[in-house]
Amino acid sequence: MAQSTNENIINWQEVGEETITHLRALLRLDTRNPPGNEVRAAEYLRALFEAEGISGEIVGPSKDRGTFIARLKGDGSAPPLLLMSHTDVVAVEPEQWTHGPFSGDIAGGFIYGRGALDMKQMVTMEAMTMLLLHRAGVRLKRDVIYMAAADEECGGHEGAGWVVENRPELIRAEYALNEGGGSGFEIGGCRYYPVQTAEKGTVRFRIRTYGRPGHGSVPHDESAILKLSAIVAKLTPDLLPVHFTNTLRGYIAGIASAQPPDIAQALQAVLADETTADAEVDRLPVEDSLKQRIHAMLRNTVTPTVLKAGSQINVIPSEAEALVDGRSLPGWTPTTFLEELRTAIGNEAEIAFLDPSTPLEADLQSPLFNIIKDVLKEHDPEATAVPFLLTGGTDAKHVTQLGTKVYGFVPGLYVGEGEGRRVHGHDERVSVRSLQWGVRVLYEVVERFASGA
Ligand SMILES: [Zn+2]
Repeated sequence: MAQSTNENIINWQEVGEETITHLRALLRLDTRNPPGNEVRAAEYLRALFEAEGISGEIVGPSKDRGTFIARLKGDGSAPPLLLMSHTDVVAVEPEQWTHGPFSGDIAGGFIYGRGALDMKQMVTMEAMTMLLLHRAGVRLKRDVIYMAAADEECGGHEGAGWVVENRPELIRAEYALNEGGGSGFEIGGCRYYPVQTAEKGTVRFRIRTYGRPGHGSVPHDESAILKLSAIVAKLTPDLLPVHFTNTLRGYIAGIASAQPPDIAQALQAVLADETTADAEVDRLPVEDSLKQRIHAMLRNTVTPTVLKAGSQINVIPSEAEALVDGRSLPGWTPTTFLEELRTAIGNEAEIAFLDPSTPLEADLQSPLFNIIKDVLKEHDPEATAVPFLLTGGTDAKHVTQLGTKVYGFVPGLYVGEGEGRRVHGHDERVSVRSLQWGVRVLYEVVERFASGA
C-alpha cells in the first residue's frame, strides 16, 4: 500500500490528544452565525498551521468573515483534493445546556460545545490530517487543500460561495471531502457508515394569492386567505411522486446487503417500483423517523413553513402569502420542479423562487469512494459503507460549481440512538473515542488517496 511506512511513525495516542486540545479551543471561540465572527477560528487555524511551517491565507468579504485556506503541494501528477469544512455554528439556548455551549467541557467521555458535531470536529480532524501529512513528509501526487469556511449555516455566500466567486484558484480540486455523512448508524444490530454522494437542491418559493378585500362581517368566497389555504392544504409530505436516484438505489441496496434475508427482501421491494415504493417503505421494520427520511429521499418535497396574511380581525385582506421550503432531487431544475408542482396543485397560485440552488450527485464508483470503503473495512470490518442522499444542503452546492466531486464523509463512531439529533440541538457533543477513531480514518483515506495513483 502506498506510503504505508508513514503509518509507523505516527503515534495515534498523541494525535488523539492533540485533536482533543484543538477541538476544545475551537469550541471555545464563539462563531455563532449570525453574525459569524469566523475570523476567530480562521486566525486560530492560521497560527496552528504556521507554527508547523504551513502557510495559509485568510480570505473573505470582510474582516470578520474569514475563511482559512492552506495547501500542501503534490508533484502535480494528479489533480488536487480539497478538505472542506465550516467554522460557523448555529444559535444556542444556553439555559438548556448542561455544559456551556462554548465551554469545550469534557465529561463522561464526551466533548461538549456548539459545533462538536456540526462541524468543528471535522475542522479539527482535517487540520490534523494536514499537519500529519506535512510532518511525515508524505510524497503527494495530489495537492491537498484545506478550507475552513465561514457562513455555511446561512447559505455560505460569505464563505465558500465567496471563495468560488472571487478566489476560485485557491480551492479548485477534482475531489472534495465535506460534511454530510460518515457517522455510523445501526439498523437491526447491523452497522453502517453513510457516505454522502448526493444532496438535494433548495427550491424555496413564495406562493401569493390575491382576492377581494372586504368587511369581516360580510364573507365572500374571493378571499385571498381561503384561496391560499386551499393550496397550502395540498402541500402534504407525499404530494409529489417518487423518483429513484442512483444514490437512493445504492443506499437501500447497501443496507439490504448486510441484513437477514427477510428484511433484505423487504428493502429490495422498495426499489421494485416507483409507484409502490411508499407503501413498501411504510412496511419496513425500522423506526418511523428513518421511514420519514426515506420518504423524503424518494421525491421532491414541499414543506410550508411561514404564513402571512391580514392585520386586523375585521378586515378581509386582499393578499395572502405562504413561504414553502422546497427541496429537489438530483437532476431536477427549478423549471422542471415547478412543472411537477403545477401538475399537483394547479396553475392558480403565483409562485416565485427564492434563491434556488442546484441538487448534486457524485459518482458511486469513484476511486475516492473506493478508498473510503477500504479504510472503513480495515477499521470496522463488520460495518458496511453506503451512499447517502442528504435532504438538506451544504457548501457542496458552491464548490461543485467548479466541477469538484464532493463526498460527505466525517468519520465518526456510532455512539447510541439519537446522538445525531444533537446537531443544532442542546448539549451537542462528540465522544472522545469517536474523535480519536475519526481522525485516524480520515488521515488514512486522505493519505492513501493523495499519495496513490
Ligand atoms: Zn454543517
